[in-house]
Amino acid sequence: MNLNSNFQLLKESYLFAEVGARVRRYSEENPDKKVIRMDIGDVTLPIPAAIGDALDGAVKDMLSSSTFHGYGPEQGYAFLREKIVEADYAARGVQLGADEVFVSDGAKCDVGNLTDIFGKDVIVGVPNPVYPVYVDSNIMCGRTVENGGIRYIECDRENEYKPVVPGEKLDVIYLCSPNNPTGTVLDKEELKEWVDYAKEHKSLIIFDSAYEAFVQDPTLPKSIYEIEGAKEVAIEVRSFSKTAGFTGLRCGYTVVPKELKGTMADGSEVELRKLWLRRQTTKFNGASYLSQRGAEAVYSPKGSAEVKANIDYYIRNSSILHDGVTALGLKAIGGKNSPYVWIQAPNGLTSWEMFDLLLQRCQLSCTPGSGFGSNGEGCIRLTGFNSFENTKLAVERLADLRL
Ligand code: PLP
Repeated sequence: MNLNSNFQLLKESYLFAEVGARVRRYSEENPDKKVIRMDIGDVTLPIPAAIGDALDGAVKDMLSSSTFHGYGPEQGYAFLREKIVEADYAARGVQLGADEVFVSDGAKCDVGNLTDIFGKDVIVGVPNPVYPVYVDSNIMCGRTVENGGIRYIECDRENEYKPVVPGEKLDVIYLCSPNNPTGTVLDKEELKEWVDYAKEHKSLIIFDSAYEAFVQDPTLPKSIYEIEGAKEVAIEVRSFSKTAGFTGLRCGYTVVPKELKGTMADGSEVELRKLWLRRQTTKFNGASYLSQRGAEAVYSPKGSAEVKANIDYYIRNSSILHDGVTALGLKAIGGKNSPYVWIQAPNGLTSWEMFDLLLQRCQLSCTPGSGFGSNGEGCIRLTGFNSFENTKLAVERLADLRL
């Protein structure tokens, strides 16, 4: 049988494996030296107690025939969708219906699966550097940079890697804010430019706000729907992973507003929400009852206070990193409204040269920026996900290096 040969077009994803291998090798050769992992892209604090209590309660439900839950609604339980609509949106002035929210087992699946509803010949635009899922999920559908199915959106150091609205028409645009890997956050004016562009060109924006919980500046948007007219052009993808420590529990959601419409090959206009509903009811059987009860607790008074304390902890770390490296004369962005700090390597070093230098001389590991795309060359990513003590130690070691 023939296989999907688009998979042959995927580039080997060796970034994290290579980081791990180099750290392992160094540690074996230098058993007396302790490497501080500043490349961590996962949460490290345990889940808040309120979420643990909700999980306990959900387990008890499952143990009794009167409260047992089998298959749930594919779109997610109403108890969670209603909380999302109220706390994540209405509280910020965005009115959505619970039937516009689709709960899932995480943002990565949703971002990847959304290609199911695109027409075959769409042209997608991605920033560079970029979260690799946007690119690879499109390559699996046969779109590549080489055949013009994927176009890179202008995005560079000079404008802090904020994607620039292009002169050409793109059908689908992926935006991620706060951004992984650069930590950049788009402000309302910048987002409005994209919404206006999408309206003019009848494009779809996929807005990945997996890191919205890290936004501290009250003037910055957490949702694209804070921009007028965005409901007509944007799907928003969110996750409880980094917000509330759900990377192992798995829960996220995607919003597809009723106003968002597209055109079929026969010219008929269709709500994207209906397509996504059909896609989910066909290929997905819902996130687990346990993880949805856990996610519901994120919105309780105790849960939201505990979640905020964890976010504050990570942000204090990333802020220390940002200020620490900036004080050393390095150029850094991010870290204030995002757990990621994006640093330009000094003296024209490549990303991997900087990685090796930090590992050998400071026993620090980072993520080479070149692994996120060619525009990431010459940069590295550090994260606020290590402990406060290790973060302070990392800054001290960098200071001793005298870059
Ligand atoms: N979107 C971005 C930008 C991410 O960085 C990540 C995880 O690192 C995800 C989505 C995936 O989130 P989830 O754990 O919900 O699948």
